[in-house]
Amino acid sequence: MLHARTEIIVADAVRLLADLCEHFSEHGDVSYADGTGAVDFGFGQARLGAEGRRLVVEAKASDEIYLAYMKMGVAEHVHEFAPVPAPEIHWTGDGVTGTIPPFFRAMRVVSAQTLTPHMRRIRLAGRDLGRFAEGGHHVRLIFPPAGREPVWPTLGSDGRIVWPEGEDRLEHRVYTIRRIDPAAGFVDIDIVLHSGEETPGSRFATGARPGDIVGMSGPGGGEIGPASTLILLGDDTALPAIARMLEELPATATVKAVIEVDGPADELTLATKAAADIVYLHRGGRPAGSCDLLPPALRALDLPAFGNDVFVWCGCEFTDFRAIRAYLRKEIGLARHRHLVAAYWRRDRAGDVGGGD
Ligand SMILES: Cc1cc2nc3c(=O)[nH]c(=O)nc-3n(C[C@H](O)[C@H](O)[C@H](O)COP(=O)(O)OP(=O)(O)OC[C@H]3O[C@@H](n4cnc5c(N)ncnc54)[C@H](O)[C@@H]3O)c2cc1C
Repeated sequence: MLHARTEIIVADAVRLLADLCEHFSEHGDVSYADGTGAVDFGFGQARLGAEGRRLVVEAKASDEIYLAYMKMGVAEHVHEFAPVPAPEIHWTGDGVTGTIPPFFRAMRVVSAQTLTPHMRRIRLAGRDLGRFAEGGHHVRLIFPPAGREPVWPTLGSDGRIVWPEGEDRLEHRVYTIRRIDPAAGFVDIDIVLHSGEETPGSRFATGARPGDIVGMSGPGGGEIGPASTLILLGDDTALPAIARMLEELPATATVKAVIEVDGPADELTLATKAAADIVYLHRGGRPAGSCDLLPPALRALDLPAFGNDVFVWCGCEFTDFRAIRAYLRKEIGLARHRHLVAAYWRRDRAGDVGGGD
């Protein structure tokens, strides 16, 4: 087990502790009272103690990536909740600072393959990928500016990422590891090609050539909870995740998958041992994220008929995400541990969306 500790001086430490614990309760098991708090994120634990102007945080986790996530999560939320100017944070104990983060790898394009009219598979090679095969399916691809030697991000002593600025500024977008083979040293990422003026991810996939360099950080999030029946919903951006989940499911699982793509040529044949019913819905040339296909498809499934041992997973555009989450939570009252709904992108907004459970 690795440990780190920080002592933060702030105007009202008890208030800050309460705000942090309140927020962390969306992501883990939390208990707090009388100036002490305990948070269990599953991948690591934090103990917090506040008195007057002093907040002490002790974090522990089983490996250096999880410890780095703990420190980063605490530091970013202290910056979010503490009054301006943000207090200084300096971690002591395990974990490195000032160097490239343990969750970062420099990757080289090995090949780029056109899968459908709107999707390219990019194979990326890198060293020491074993850790990317566990603890979540998602990564962040980091694109260096064209024609410049990349300057990669480092870890600050406060636990947050220090991104290069100016001419070395990096763009980054979130993707799913479609396939990983740590022994052979590669990952496959399936990337949707879409229109738009500045689209670093789609542009990278369109032009990727063997030898191109990108950064990759992760892994994290996005896995399904245990259940005998799975409902998987998503648009093309979630197709890689759904394909991977289907491939990894046991023969005992029952699956209903509903996937939105532009047209028949965008459908992929999906392999699974599970008893799966896979349905594709077509936009037929209408803009992605504007068709309202997934929410009515979910309603039409009559979820209660699938029994109690069900898990609903969904990745899609923000408007559909909101409708689907509201339906599951407010209308049918599906328990939190029985669904994971995420906004994978948002119409007319570049980069991170920040919508999910
Ligand atoms: C957890 C997670 C996993 C993801 N996995 C994948 C994956 O495996 N494969 C994948 O392709 N995407 C995946 N995405 C979605 C991807 O991160 C976004 O689509 C991202 O915005 C693409 O970046 P970009 O640089 O191409 O476009 P951006 O610069 O982000 O956006 C530019 C413009 O394009 C629009 N836009 C963005 N995405 C789309 C789209 N799909 N269709 C139409 N218009 C779009 C935006 O609204 C904006 O107007 C994932 C997202 C999340 C959160």
